[in-house]
Amino acid sequence: MKLYTYCSNCKAEINFSASVKKRSDLTKKFETQNSNSIILSCNCCKTQSINTIDSIKAEVNQKIIGFSTIFFAIAAIILSVYIFTLAVKFLNIYTVGGLVSVISIPYLICHAIKNYLQNKVMDFNFS
Ligand SMILES: [Zn+2]
Repeated sequence: MKLYTYCSNCKAEINFSASVKKRSDLTKKFETQNSNSIILSCNCCKTQSINTIDSIKAEVNQKIIGFSTIFFAIAAIILSVYIFTLAVKFLNIYTVGGLVSVISIPYLICHAIKNYLQNKVMDFNFS
């Protein structure tokens, strides 16, 4: 999950990622100041920034969404070509209709991934 906060020194955004479910998990993964703060290093001013876990927010990793969209768009194109060749062979409206609905599968998978990621982000932000 993509996480971000702001440097306590120069206010630049600090981006990092961690596989955590909730804010309190961060203290197990990072160097801590106390039970409510973690120490992050700022790329901008090169200092160690002490950030309260409440100041850390999650957002959906747009790269994963982008990759899965491209991947499933390609899958849909391949399926369409395959369906078209089958449709030409059978020329039956019911078969064609059934096959066309198969194209929606990549879309549904892509949508499910997006939902899953958004729920994770929401769980973290409300923890
Ligand atoms: Zn800084």
